[in-house]
Amino acid sequence: MSAEVFDGRTAFVSFTYLAASIAFILGLRGLTKPETARRGLQLAAFGMVAAIAGTLVNHEIITYTWCLVGLTLGTALGWPLGQRVAMTQMPQRIAISHLFGALAATLVGVAEYTHHVWGHLELGRAQVLALSFEVLFGALTVSGSFMAFGKLHEILPGRGITFPMQNLVNLTIFTSSVGLMGYLVYEPTASWAFFTMLGLSFLAGFMMVLPIGGADMPVVVSLLNSYAGLAASATGFALGNAVLIICGALDGASGFLLSVLMSKAMNRSFGNVLFGAFGSQVKAVAASSAKGEMKEVSLEDAALALRYARSVVVVPGYGLAVAQAQKLVGELAELLEGHGNDVKYAIHPVAGRMPGHMNVLLAEANISYEKMVEMEDINEKFSEVDVAVVIGANDVVNPAAKRDPGSSIYGMPVLNVDQAKRVIVLKRGKGTGFAGIENELFIDERTSLLFGDAKATLQRLVTELKTL
Ligand code: NDP
Repeated sequence: MSAEVFDGRTAFVSFTYLAASIAFILGLRGLTKPETARRGLQLAAFGMVAAIAGTLVNHEIITYTWCLVGLTLGTALGWPLGQRVAMTQMPQRIAISHLFGALAATLVGVAEYTHHVWGHLELGRAQVLALSFEVLFGALTVSGSFMAFGKLHEILPGRGITFPMQNLVNLTIFTSSVGLMGYLVYEPTASWAFFTMLGLSFLAGFMMVLPIGGADMPVVVSLLNSYAGLAASATGFALGNAVLIICGALDGASGFLLSVLMSKAMNRSFGNVLFGAFGSQVKAVAASSAKGEMKEVSLEDAALALRYARSVVVVPGYGLAVAQAQKLVGELAELLEGHGNDVKYAIHPVAGRMPGHMNVLLAEANISYEKMVEMEDINEKFSEVDVAVVIGANDVVNPAAKRDPGSSIYGMPVLNVDQAKRVIVLKRGKGTGFAGIENELFIDERTSLLFGDAKATLQRLVTELKTL
């Protein structure tokens, strides 16, 4: 009878793990397109529920009390985090999630190791390798994510901190940690080596993120995501848990690919982000060839220009997210479309502070994904655009990236807004963008500016358009 119960349980656990793995894979696939992203997220969430259900009926669970404590605590922390954190704070929100995930993996690794070594249980070489790998990447991700969170949230100085031979020092710390992992395979019960490796890995995480400026943190967060995935996968090997192996590998691969894609969209090599301390320097490289005066446009003129433009392209940027003006953008577009104007949205891959930031923002205002056009598809068409409305975007429309080899963003692909027949820019003042450099587009003769917070300006523009 007990064997039957055991088999039924094992079958249920295997089934839920299989279902969870399939849901994770299909969920990730769904996330590749904005139209299917919501469904992808729902599938991934279903996968997570299935994995938790499977884990809870696992026969290896000794007491449910701690599971309940963990679930309650996790929900109490996670729910408000998901509800309250603003879209512009999403990168640091993700960093803190990685910190928790990696901390869990590290603690499981330490618990498994000490349970075996201090309990004098057998610990094979393969198992100690998996445990060490888990703890190495887990600890590195915990401290690295803490630093990334601190820099993004500005509780730590955002600029990168550098010192002579930094890369050599960092490499020495990391290779010593890897060396100790190798030693543990040879001598699995050497707990001094295990704990020294743990300490060195924590240090490696801090040191790795120390020289990188706040500006490059989203790429770092994505890379740490990949490390957290690798740690989770190793946990799966250590515990013999298939779903952890699969979802950790998915996490590891997707985080790595995303970091590479983000670096590419900023025209930076991956190595340059990690070892070049870019984010610390750009604010200082504010000098640019841009000289001249920005000219203002009156609200009436701007409204008239939009009203009689056949084609309008809205270029959203980080400032739109800060102002939370997406609903008003939708309202403005609706008014213009009511007059028969064609309105589209030009999406730069790194507009805002994380990939897909603008798509999500505009979707919140019920703007259809079909009207959001990716940079490579719209760039050739800017010369036919009557009015390009730049809302809180700066670096992603800076022509210096195409023309000025001395510019810190030279080579970064940008939107060809400078080719539009007329450009209206909504920004608060003369502030620079993320890269800290001037923008020649703003002093171009075809460009005029509407100064003020994007939300307030859009509100006034909508009111004015209604009178026309
Ligand atoms: P930027 O940060 O370059 O510029 C934002 C502009 O918005 C500023 O010029 C600012 O000017 C204006 N602004 C700020 N607040 C408001 C407001 N309330 N109302 C109106 N305007 C406002 O943004 P972009 O989107 O053009 O570029 C994104 C940058 O972030 C790129 O350099 C990119 O490489 C970088 N990045 C993006 C990542 C991603 O994945 N998306 C990841 C890492 C980096 P003012 O102060 O005058 O108002």
